[in-house]
Amino acid sequence: MIEKAEAVVLKTLNHGDTSKIITLYSREVGRLKLIAKGVRSPKSKSMGLFQPTRHLQVIYYSKANSELQLFKSGELVNGFFGLEEDFDRLTLAQVVVELLDRSVEDEETHPRLFQLLIDTLARLSDNAVSSAEAYWFFHTHLLRELGYRPNVGHCSICRDSFSNGGYLGTGSSHLECIKCHQPGHESIFVNETVLNVVQDLLDAQWGELEKSSLTARDRRTLWDFLWRFTFHHIESSRGMKSLKVLRQLYD
Ligand SMILES: [Zn+2]
Repeated sequence: MIEKAEAVVLKTLNHGDTSKIITLYSREVGRLKLIAKGVRSPKSKSMGLFQPTRHLQVIYYSKANSELQLFKSGELVNGFFGLEEDFDRLTLAQVVVELLDRSVEDEETHPRLFQLLIDTLARLSDNAVSSAEAYWFFHTHLLRELGYRPNVGHCSICRDSFSNGGYLGTGSSHLECIKCHQPGHESIFVNETVLNVVQDLLDAQWGELEKSSLTARDRRTLWDFLWRFTFHHIESSRGMKSLKVLRQLYD
C-alpha cells in the first residue's frame, strides 16, 4: 500500500553500497523506519533530504507487520537551515532528535509530540529565540507528554510544598524536602529558583516563553536535574552520543 507521512529525520544509517536506512518520527504513525534504495548514488535526487532534523513529506510503500518500509519519494517541508549557522543550536537540535528517538516506541502515534518536535526545531533554528529556553521547554514538555511530568510542587514524602528547594536522589525521580531528605545518598540539591523555572516551563505555551535570568550555577543545576530525572525514566538516554557534545558546551 502506498502511504504518505509528514516526518522529521531522527537518524540515518548507510546500507549496502548506495542505500540508507532512515528512522523518522511522523505525525501519522509515530516512529517510522524506511529503506531508501540508491539514494547515495550521485544521480539520486533525494540525497540531500536525509539529514537528521530535516522535516519532510515522504511517500512510501508499506507492508503490514514489517519493521522496515520502502521509501518511494520525498520532499523538504523545512530544512531548519538556521541550525547550521550556530554550533550550539545544532548540538541542541541533535540532542532533541536523539532523545526523541530513544523515548518512543515504533508505530505509536502521538501527534502532540510530533508538533512539539517541529515547533522546537523551528525555534532552535531561529536566532531571535533563546536556544537554551527553547531546549528546556522541549525537554520538560517531552517528559510531560510521555507521562513523566516532574512534580516540582510538593515533597514526595510529606507533601509539603517546597519553600527552600528540594533534593533529588540517585536512581530516583522524586524530590524530597529538606526535612524529609536523608543525608548520605548521592543527591543533588535543587533550589527554589530552579524548581520554579521547571514549573513555569511546564505551565508555559511557546508564545509565553521568556528568557530566564538564571545564574550559571542554577543553569547547571537545571541541566543536572533534567538529565538525572530523564535517565531514571528513559534508561537508553544515558548512552546518547549528542549528550557528550552537549556536556562539553555546558560544563
Ligand atoms: Zn518532606
